[in-house]
Amino acid sequence: MASLRNIPAMDELLEMPETRDLQTKYNREFVVGQLRLAVDDIRQELKLAKGEPGKAALRTGILARLRDRISQADRGSLQRVVNGTGVVLHTNLGRAPLGERALENLMIMGRNYNNLEFDLEKGQRGSRYQHVEELIKQLTGAEAALVVNNNAAAVLLCLTALACGREAIVSRGQLIEIGGAFRIPDVMKQSGAQLIEVGTTNKTYISDYVQAITENTGLLFSAHTSNYKIVGFCQEVGLDELVELGKAKNLPVVHDLGSGILADLGQWGLKDEPTVKACVASGADLVTFSGDKLLGGPQAGIIAGKRAYIEAMKKHQLTRALRVDKLNLAALEGTLLEYLSGEPLKRIPVLRLLTASVAELRDRAELLAGMIRAELHAGEYIEEVDVVPVDDMVGGGAYPTYKIDGYGLEIAFAGGILEAVSRRMRLMNPGFIARKREDKMLISVRTLLNGDEELVVTMLRSALEAESEARKESGD
Ligand SMILES: *Cc1c(COP(=O)(O)O)cnc(C)c1O
Repeated sequence: MASLRNIPAMDELLEMPETRDLQTKYNREFVVGQLRLAVDDIRQELKLAKGEPGKAALRTGILARLRDRISQADRGSLQRVVNGTGVVLHTNLGRAPLGERALENLMIMGRNYNNLEFDLEKGQRGSRYQHVEELIKQLTGAEAALVVNNNAAAVLLCLTALACGREAIVSRGQLIEIGGAFRIPDVMKQSGAQLIEVGTTNKTYISDYVQAITENTGLLFSAHTSNYKIVGFCQEVGLDELVELGKAKNLPVVHDLGSGILADLGQWGLKDEPTVKACVASGADLVTFSGDKLLGGPQAGIIAGKRAYIEAMKKHQLTRALRVDKLNLAALEGTLLEYLSGEPLKRIPVLRLLTASVAELRDRAELLAGMIRAELHAGEYIEEVDVVPVDDMVGGGAYPTYKIDGYGLEIAFAGGILEAVSRRMRLMNPGFIARKREDKMLISVRTLLNGDEELVVTMLRSALEAESEARKESGD
């Protein structure tokens, strides 16, 4: 262990021109805090070191660590990543990237004042809920609509408003958990509705619901089991049948659709997911879905359905706590307007990515492979770059069993450096996330957005350079 007594005092360090400069560019307390951490770094290193570094060397070392720490902190925590996973709606990667109209709207409403809760016609207070209601009605065929923070909030609100203190009947086959700990039974509990489970895991009949109805029943609930599928000996009651029962017994039917799809993607092989329009047309009283799944917009929860229920929910106390923010509303309206444009499949990124043809993806994979081979193949660390068919996924709790045919690259590295290179690329800014197949890096081109290909090549090059450098230093 080297001695610590040559470490300069804090006062001395803070008087150096470099740290003075940092103190004018950044908040002073922030710089002092980071400087303490940098000194700690050096102290830790000295404990493991031999020899006796002089004061000047220590000063330089501390400054270097201070600059690193400050630039790291200044970059923020939420950062851009390049998605090479082929999962289009990746919940961990922020779900839907937004389209141009949504982004423009976001900038304008964020930068300026707006009529969020102001009725320009009457010159008086208005409602934030009126802005996208007409658009949603038009796109879904519903009588009325309400937007809240996310779909979890939408489900909670429906259950609370319609069944708090009463019973809500659900099939055991639909007591699902969605990623991020959204569990239907737990949401029920939160809402104050009493969960009445009917049927079994694999089979539920309409008679099970009929038998469970009492005078204390508040609603019939069904959830689209979007992230898993029971196959084999199974039976669920269709939404149509449930709606019929609800009508006969005068009970509202709430359907949690999850990934609300507005455009018909049947032609692209995405057939089994019901559209919001179809659910509304089936007569469900309330249909809830997310704004940032197959709709392709920002985080939001949309409730579409019967006017009387929607109006009652607009006035509910809980709505105030779950209300949608102006920026999300701006992005949602911008996205919904794209559906009126006649070419939503081109203008909404999620839909564009999902409907990209295999031929186009193969061409893009070839192009990227060419770029990597030209730039990097000569290097010592890449053994092979192959263009290969891949299974892409919709993700976001939708189409669980759907793999969509895609194309990508498989990169084989020499010297067992796959993990090290992947880690380096993850930690860059933007970061890069890809999959692994056997001992190779698997990059799907479907989820690479405009310009990402060049970025991937640059990132791969710097990661390999850094890795090569590190190995030289450690004498490998
Ligand atoms: C995704 C999903 C949810 C949760 O929606 P968020 O918008 O993430 O809150 C709820 N129910 C179903 C069926 C879902 O697929």
